[in-house]
Amino acid sequence: MNDVAALEFTRQQAQPLPAERREEMLATPGFGDVFSDHMVTMRWSAEVGWHDAQVGPLAAMSLHPATMALHYGQTIFEGMKAFWRPNGQRALFRPADHARRFNSSARRMAMPTLPEEDFVAAVEALVRVDGAWVPRARGHSLYLRPFMIAAETHLGLRTAEEYLFAVIGTPARPASLEPKPMRLWAAPEYIRAAPGGTGAVKCGGNYGGSHIVQQQAAANDCDQVVWLDAQERRYIEEAGSSNLFFVESTIGGPRLRTPPLSGTLLAGITRDSILRLARSLGYPVSEAPLTLDEWEQSCRDGRITETFACGTALSIVPVGHVASTEREWPVGDGTAGPVTSRLREAMLDIHYGQIPDEFGWMRLVGTEG
Ligand SMILES: *Cc1c(COP(=O)(O)O)cnc(C)c1O
Repeated sequence: MNDVAALEFTRQQAQPLPAERREEMLATPGFGDVFSDHMVTMRWSAEVGWHDAQVGPLAAMSLHPATMALHYGQTIFEGMKAFWRPNGQRALFRPADHARRFNSSARRMAMPTLPEEDFVAAVEALVRVDGAWVPRARGHSLYLRPFMIAAETHLGLRTAEEYLFAVIGTPARPASLEPKPMRLWAAPEYIRAAPGGTGAVKCGGNYGGSHIVQQQAAANDCDQVVWLDAQERRYIEEAGSSNLFFVESTIGGPRLRTPPLSGTLLAGITRDSILRLARSLGYPVSEAPLTLDEWEQSCRDGRITETFACGTALSIVPVGHVASTEREWPVGDGTAGPVTSRLREAMLDIHYGQIPDEFGWMRLVGTEG
């Protein structure tokens, strides 16, 4: 385990939000609309590399209109969570894996990488100072958003020579512990990612291009889009910004199937965790392609009994229905199935320390004050 990182942060304490006001916000359902008191920032330049690491008050940033990130899309991010522990500590879920993926995004976008221990130290620094912002309720968390942008002022098209890294935190407060099953919208005329493109990394542009389809989904009473492969428009890749799992019924019991990491899927850390957790719970798992037609047919004849979407933001959410311009079908009886619920509860138990962390996924963080 990496313990103490070499990185030194300069510190400036924020005027914290009064505790009553904060508790009120933590008790109100929502996501991404309120932020913890502090932020971490760090700068990179071609001459000195990473420098100027700071923990300071969360504040607006002033950007020159020719800041390169605003024009040419060199922006990447991560999404990870801190959970509350009854012993007063907080725990981060798989932070080193998020650090590694952040660096793979950076490499794909020709941006500087950050030593993994510095990435983890930056996230930990925010959790330590804003530990009071980690909600206590099961199913709630402090969502952390590390990101990096091309910060150089320059309008010629080339890679930037200055970057800004930052971490901010927003409490994730779901309305209920039992998520409502999703309706997914399959729209083969749009794709999210193509071979050789940026689908495997978390860069801003991937999401900018998806809103138009998300609007179409919403207009058809659906929650998220099912993304299909770019070449044949048949193979299922992901749902919105989460990975998908199918539960197949066999004589030997249920088994799990998820699309393989073809290079156009985002390799979710939740996806990887579920693959390992499912095996340890005795479910066979396979990474095998599935077409939209096979999915429909298998739901209709009972070979697929459940489907769920998974990712850091939403955890595990059942898929109840799938719709497209031509057809619509239910998955199982349209509600959360037993395998989905069991995996969801097991993940929550790991997050909240209610079962032993046999995979070594949780990293404990002490808090100040
Ligand atoms: C972030 C993301 C996921 C889920 O990844 P996790 O590491 O599980 O949060 C899946 N698909 C896309 C497109 C994503 O951006």
